[in-house]
Amino acid sequence: MTETETIAYDVVVLGAGPVGENVADRTRAAGLSTAVVESELVGGECSYWACIPSKALLRPVIARADARRVPGLRQSVQGPLDAEAVLAHRNYYTSDWHDDGAALWLDSIGADLHRGHGRLTGPRTVTVTASDGGRKVLTARHAVAVCTGTDAVLPDLPGLAEVKPWTSRNATSAQAVPGRLVVVGGGVVATEMATAWQALGSQVTVLVRGKGLLNRMEPFAGELVAEALTEAGADVRTGTSVESVARENGTVVVVTDQGDRIEADEILFATGRRPKTGDIGLDTIGLEPGSWLPVDDSLRVPGSDWLYAVGDVNHRALLTHQGKYQARIAGAAIAARASGVPLLESDPWGAHAATADHHAVPQVVFTDPEAAAVGLSLAEAEQAGYRVRAVDVEMSSASGAGLYADGYRGRARMVVDLNEEILRGVTFVGPGVGELIHSATIAVAGQVPIARLWHAVPSFPTISEVWLRLLEAYRDN
Ligand SMILES: Cc1cc2nc3c(=O)[nH]c(=O)nc-3n(C[C@H](O)[C@H](O)[C@H](O)COP(=O)(O)OP(=O)(O)OC[C@H]3O[C@@H](n4cnc5c(N)ncnc54)[C@H](O)[C@@H]3O)c2cc1C
Repeated sequence: MTETETIAYDVVVLGAGPVGENVADRTRAAGLSTAVVESELVGGECSYWACIPSKALLRPVIARADARRVPGLRQSVQGPLDAEAVLAHRNYYTSDWHDDGAALWLDSIGADLHRGHGRLTGPRTVTVTASDGGRKVLTARHAVAVCTGTDAVLPDLPGLAEVKPWTSRNATSAQAVPGRLVVVGGGVVATEMATAWQALGSQVTVLVRGKGLLNRMEPFAGELVAEALTEAGADVRTGTSVESVARENGTVVVVTDQGDRIEADEILFATGRRPKTGDIGLDTIGLEPGSWLPVDDSLRVPGSDWLYAVGDVNHRALLTHQGKYQARIAGAAIAARASGVPLLESDPWGAHAATADHHAVPQVVFTDPEAAAVGLSLAEAEQAGYRVRAVDVEMSSASGAGLYADGYRGRARMVVDLNEEILRGVTFVGPGVGELIHSATIAVAGQVPIARLWHAVPSFPTISEVWLRLLEAYRDN
């Protein structure tokens, strides 16, 4: 290899997270030669520091909580979690932070992996700098797909670097349970990690600037999760922000704007994400380094006929499943354009347009209780100008709920579009609802008329009978 070897491909994918992997899968399936550039681990944030390790930590927590709600079983699961075994289980799920298996999979689909930091160095051109300083120039006949994801944002607090705060990476990969953990933030990462570490043995304090947790969901989601976290022993303080933080003799000392002083062993900042576009050469093609990359529904950056931005980096929905959905569409669009086939944005399979991003994004928060939602909340639907009505029922009204968990607590809401008589959004909060949300996703994405939903009969006695209760509540009020 010479220092400036140039290799031509049909497609260059920058970033091998779940999204980059799926773009490559689709372009390879279409017969396009594809290079994938990765600076860390094939599999991305999701596999090693986000979805997978966090859910591996949370699964035993939720299973134990569920078991404790079943008479006859409760007595057998009163002890603490075996934290060492839980962490080992998490390590197994991240392959101990090795990506050999993922790299082999890329090889099996016939994509070329180039390890190193990739930067655009002009239109259709990506220069890869390997850790040994070696460089390669990759050119793309048809498309460059930027799939570089996001990283954690830390607040601008003096001396924060010396405190060595946790970000989501530490919170998902720590090899020991901190005695006391302060979690700053009230979103999904904060609530999930507070749930996990409190159950694993930490004394958790959650500091939330706003009025409550999970403020992108229906308000009752955050209320129920905060209530449960408090019952689990965590100290949840809303309307509180960090004024200063320091590490004194190894102990983290936090002073809040309420004048409280809190001591802890570690502090996690789960205070937002920013796009990893600061150092990918956007300036060489007239774009702003560090910016999110807005795209059209084929995931192409407006004004370009070769640049795509897929997954977290386009800021449409920071979720793996939604990014993988976009990747399937981007791959299909790249292949169609490469072969000169016009994009049929209206084709019945919707193969070339990521329309679900606009109205039917599902999300599960793996707290105890779980919170799951799809589409718009009531506030979002009203803001979007829809004439809507919220229909609320207690989850316990479903016959299966009581059997699932003694004293089942949770709530469901559907947001009905009164003009179209379809659902704009659905939220479920309660044990086990993560597996229920796909029924709502089908109703929202499929714009199923309420009149037809009556004919989707929930099985007895399951939690999904909550659908019947929601329809009855809509009819009777
Ligand atoms: C703690 C946590 C838990 C989460 N849990 C869930 C969950 O349960 N379900 C869910 O759907 N979503 C979850 N998410 C969100 C999910 O992780 C992201 O939506 C997903 O990882 C986005 O995939 P991506 O491929 O776009 O980006 P990433 O997974 O971030 O991958 C981007 C890849 O690009 C590489 N890269 C970046 N810049 C360069 C460069 N210049 N050169 C070469 N390579 C580069 C990176 O090294 C990385 O491998 C969670 C996030 C966090 C933080």
